[in-house]
Parts: sequence; C-alpha cells; structure tokens
Amino acid sequence: MLKNWSRKSNNLVHHFNIDTAGTHTCQVYSGNGTLEILADRIRIYNQKKVLLLIDENVDKLYGRKITEILLSEGFDPAVHKIPSGETSKSAGKWLEAVDFCFESGVNRKTPLVAVGGGVTGDLAGYVAASVMRGIPLVQVPTTLLAMVDSSLGGKTGINHHTGKNLIGAFYQPDTIISDIIFLETLPAREWRCGMAEIIKYGAIADPDLFTLAARFKLGFSDPAKLMELITRCARIKAAIVAEDELEAGRRAWLNYGHTFAHALEALTGYRRFSHGEAVYIGMVAAHKLSNLLGAKLDEFPLFQFLDSYRLSVADLKPRIHELVAKMFLDKKSLNNTVRVVLLHRYGHPRIVDITDLSLLEKAWDFALDTCN
Ligand code: ADP
Ligand code: ZN
Repeated sequence: MLKNWSRKSNNLVHHFNIDTAGTHTCQVYSGNGTLEILADRIRIYNQKKVLLLIDENVDKLYGRKITEILLSEGFDPAVHKIPSGETSKSAGKWLEAVDFCFESGVNRKTPLVAVGGGVTGDLAGYVAASVMRGIPLVQVPTTLLAMVDSSLGGKTGINHHTGKNLIGAFYQPDTIISDIIFLETLPAREWRCGMAEIIKYGAIADPDLFTLAARFKLGFSDPAKLMELITRCARIKAAIVAEDELEAGRRAWLNYGHTFAHALEALTGYRRFSHGEAVYIGMVAAHKLSNLLGAKLDEFPLFQFLDSYRLSVADLKPRIHELVAKMFLDKKSLNNTVRVVLLHRYGHPRIVDITDLSLLEKAWDFALDTCN
C-alpha cells in the first residue's frame, strides 16, 4: 500500500494555488503518491526541525513511514500525537501541543505539519496560528472530509464548553498535500462523512459531480477517478474561499444543509450523528425547503445517495419544534430569522432569511421521513 511513496509519480499530481485576498498563496497538491512532495515543500523554510502533529490512528498506520521520509531527507522531525476524536479540539490539548512546540525548540520559521482529519487540522492549525503569532503550516489531510473541505480555507480552532469552534483564527497553510493513498484505510463511516460534503459541492456548484460521486458510494475504488473527484471539490472550495476569505458573501454557500445539520447535531449532543450524516439529512431538508419556495429540483441527484444515510430518525419527529428552535440559535441566524442556503436549481444557490416557522417544520418533517 505504501509503495507509491517511494516512486516518483508526479504525473498524477494536481497542483493549484489559492490566492487568499492576495495576501497569502497556498499551494494545494492532490493525487496518488503526493506525499513525496512533502520534503520539497518544507525545505523552503531552511530548517532542520519539523514539528509533526499527527492523529494517533494515522500515526499507527503511517507515522513511521512519514518520519522515515523526513529523516531520509535530512530533517529532524519531532512528533506529537493527538488522540482521535472531537475531544482533542480542547484548550487542554491546544496547550499540550503548544508546550510540545516550545519544548522541541520552535522558532518563527519552524514548519508545523498536521497529519490527520478535520480534528487534527483544526487543532494543529490553531497551534500554528498562535505559537509566536504564527509559524509555517502544512496540512496533510488523511480523511476524505479534510481533503475536500476542512483543510482548505484557513479556519482553525477548538471548542469551548459552551459550543463548537468558538475559539479560533483564520490561518492559511502554505501547503496542502492530499494523498489518496491514505483513504484506503478510512473507515466506512468516515467515508460517508466526506461524501456528504462532496454531494454538497454537486448541489451548490457543479451538478456533474453527482454522477462522478455516485461511483464512490461504497468507498475507495478507481484511484484516477477518485483523484479527479477530490481535486474538483477542492478547487470549488478554494475558488470560493479565495474570493471570500473572511466569509462575507459566497462562502456562506458552503453552509448548504449546515444550518439544519448544526441543529440536529446540537439536539443530539454531537454523539448520535457524524457531521456528514447530519449534513446529508440537512441537505434533504434544504432541498425540500427550496421546492416549497418555488424551486423545481429533481430528487434523483441528491436522493441517489440515500441508502448510505438511512439513519432511523423517526424518534426525532416529535422533536421537530426543538430542531427549529435550535436553528434560531445558529451563529449565522439574526433577528428572529433563520438564515439558510437554498437552491434555485442545482448549481445555483441563494441565501434566504426564513421567518415562517411552519416552512422549516415541513422541511424537517420531509427530511426525517426520507432519511428514516
Ligand atoms: P474528520 O476529518 O471527519 O473531521 P477526524 O479528524 O475526527 O475526522 O477523523 C475521523 C477518524 O478517522 C478518526 O478516528 C481518525 O483517527 C481516523 N482517521 C483519519 N484518517 C485516517 C486514515 N487515513 N485511515 C484510517 N483512519 C483514519
Ligand atoms: Zn461540513
């Protein structure tokens, strides 16, 4: 499985820049065997020391290989493992990682490499943003979700006990290296989690992606096509982020399905559904709401993925009013309205402020019936 990393396979690499507000250029590499670029990308800092923050499961599978690559290229890697799971996005884990950086002799040019999924990326990104007011950051996402979504855009941060992602900073990595080799070991549930965000890009930006994504309903296969899928999604996110780094306008489109999803996740204590599961149900609700407001969206593009997201949710139907109430608490909702992203048609999103609660209730009712 790891043999590709010792073979030069640059012909399989897609490379593009994200120019975030013209202030910072982030280079994104995605492909099969892309990790071999890591050493070249961190050599630009002229440092021997490299700080590696790595998810503990990813470390078991790939840690030795990554350290060997760095050692063989003359670097001196210092490794800090991050326990898997959302609880690592805490002030305590942030401080432990900051301590690790200083104990390893960090200076302003020492690169920090984050290897893992969204949790590792968010925590490590915030560590890089805060140590000495910012040290170079390289993201090596190892989950589908992180490759197409969370590693791009510069949102970093941790949770506060009163809510998720309440502490953080916008901080752009210099390089993002997505290597699909990692995805061969990704658990099925994590795969579905990333697929939901991929389906989202189909809905808001590129309906052709639905057909391509459908080939990957069941998991890892066809590396060349998978690479194309990931690269197309990453480009969509990159283009939106480059245009709207601080989330004033179009970046909100990326929240398609998410106002619903956040309510569902919050109501169920963030334990019952993975983020992607909640996002899929949220997209079904947003689809219904779009149609209630006059769109004529076909069901097939979105609903062809339903089999992966049938989640026995009937018990939530009596709690629809609680879900609606949670939507009002979303940090993107203002003044007694709920701000949602809806579709005119696939590929054409719009932002709508909803005041009529009964519309939200109907959308929930439909989504909970459909995803049951
Ligand atoms: P996300 O990217 O969805 O936010 P996390 O960072 O929480 O996800 O990672 C999801 C889970 O997948 C964690 O348990 C993590 O240890 C595991 N994981 C991450 N990357 C891989 C991989 N390439 N192979 C196997 N497991 C992985
Ligand atoms: Zn999301």
